[in-house]
Amino acid sequence: MTSYPTSNVRRLPPISNEPIKSYAPGSPERDELKARLAAMEQECPDIPLVIGGREIRTGDVAKATSPHKHRHVTATWHRARPEDVHAAIKAAHDARREWASWRWEDRAGVLLKAADILAGPKRATLNAATMLGQSKTAYQTEIDAACETIDFWRFNVRFAAQILAEQPASSAGVWNQTDYRGLEGFVYAISPFNFTAIGANLPTAPALMGCTTIWKPAGTAILSAWHTLQILHEAGLPPGVINFVPGNAATITDILLADRNFGGVHFTGSTAVFNSMWKTIGENINKYKSYPRIVGETGGKDFIVAHPSADAAAIAVAIVRGGFEYQGQKCSAASRAYIPKSLWNEVRDRTLAMIADIRMGDPSDFRNFMGAVIDKKAFERIGGYLADAKQNAKVLAGGNTNGADGWFVEPTLIQTENPAYRLLCEEIFGPVVTVFVYDDAKWIETLQTVDQTSPYALTGAVFARDKNAVADAHRELHHAAGNFYINDKPTGAVVGQQPFGGARASGTNDKAGSKLNLTRWTSARTVKETFSPPTEYRYPFMSAE
Ligand code: NAD
Repeated sequence: MTSYPTSNVRRLPPISNEPIKSYAPGSPERDELKARLAAMEQECPDIPLVIGGREIRTGDVAKATSPHKHRHVTATWHRARPEDVHAAIKAAHDARREWASWRWEDRAGVLLKAADILAGPKRATLNAATMLGQSKTAYQTEIDAACETIDFWRFNVRFAAQILAEQPASSAGVWNQTDYRGLEGFVYAISPFNFTAIGANLPTAPALMGCTTIWKPAGTAILSAWHTLQILHEAGLPPGVINFVPGNAATITDILLADRNFGGVHFTGSTAVFNSMWKTIGENINKYKSYPRIVGETGGKDFIVAHPSADAAAIAVAIVRGGFEYQGQKCSAASRAYIPKSLWNEVRDRTLAMIADIRMGDPSDFRNFMGAVIDKKAFERIGGYLADAKQNAKVLAGGNTNGADGWFVEPTLIQTENPAYRLLCEEIFGPVVTVFVYDDAKWIETLQTVDQTSPYALTGAVFARDKNAVADAHRELHHAAGNFYINDKPTGAVVGQQPFGGARASGTNDKAGSKLNLTRWTSARTVKETFSPPTEYRYPFMSAE
């Protein structure tokens, strides 16, 4: 296989990870963000559907609120009706031919320009929207809404260029080419509440490869999704390429998955929802023009496992940052920890001291390390787990909730002696870390327990200074995590550096923000051109002797 640049792959502008701003007191970014937050808190946009470039207000209106101030309405938004969903299918269909016929560089140019707009004039706006709507602190917002989104848009362009440059070998008299076509049907992009950047990536990755999409954002992240769409429009995204269709998930999904032109789903969210869609797709398989691409990154039960040779201070910081940042609502959040007896007292005391120091509240007060969980449903679900822990385990810190003004859940550390306890197995999606303390002599057994305890395999971290112990963890946990960390917390993957995704019940592991993901949105066409076709059907071996 030879690889050479095709004539339509130009040299790209320099691409590197967007530097994370500190928002420290006195920094210009801090002043700008605070001003934007104050201004946007007074606004309440009325967010329409956008189908084929046309804004549609259906009148079926929902309210978005701030999780940390749940009486404060941040936006109103319109829910799609069945006829809007059908209109979105048509708009995606109508836009596809032209979008797919654009030079690849021109599609890439839209994303590169969007990244520049976000890195500059719209940075504070998208960050403020994420803080208000999803209750992220300034720093958590910066790494998500600004940096990760910018990185997705820029790095995907680089990865797409690499895919396009992959071309087959040719023999004398023949020219073989691979044509990377966008999918023939539309892609349904469904995003979760917890990362603005995921919302930005799910519809744009297929669009870059020449697909048109229908994007259903999470209602709880509607404000940041809306501002993301504005940035893409400002960058020149043509009408119909990304059709913005918020609304009732089941109604929208049932219509889209039953359509003959359904080409694929790009999903991030919970395992149960992904499984239900996969089932529906299976039931509808005879309806489709092509076999749909099914890409989903789903739940996790992410672990920290420490060897007796590990540094106790580093483990404690990994528990606190990995478990409680963004209120434990990262799919990668540490939620179970396995600590050897010999280190436990020190790890526990250090962790408890940090928890006692944590401030929680409105993210517009920059001293807060934590905000609120996303909504009442999450608040009640997490509260149920805390009630269980109070009965069946030992609550070492936290364990309480307060929903009077915002959906606040204390950072909680739980200890159990039962390695099969449900808080060690089930995804909670809140600031709750459950610890199992093991006998130092049972290292290998503990690794096997970590591997077998939950159905998920998203992220995990091993802490050890002994390299043999690291090798043990590599071997025993080979399939236990798609993102595996050594002496680091299991959160904070960076586009282009740690491609993200997990297997087992955590998803199809197509690694968001990587070449592997983009290959799912292209349908390759092999072209063979023969310069001098044969004009005689008989082969030489057939001649008379
Ligand atoms: P969710 O599954 O409740 O919602 C995700 C999206 O699916 C939303 O847009 C929602 O409206 C939509 N949805 C809900 N019901 C649907 C249905 N029947 N058909 C189609 N769509 C439907 O998840 P969430 O609460 O927004 O996000 C949290 C979950 O996402 C956690 O499980 C977390 O682990 C996972 N997550 C995974 C990753 C990853 O990369 N693996 C990243 C972020 C979040």
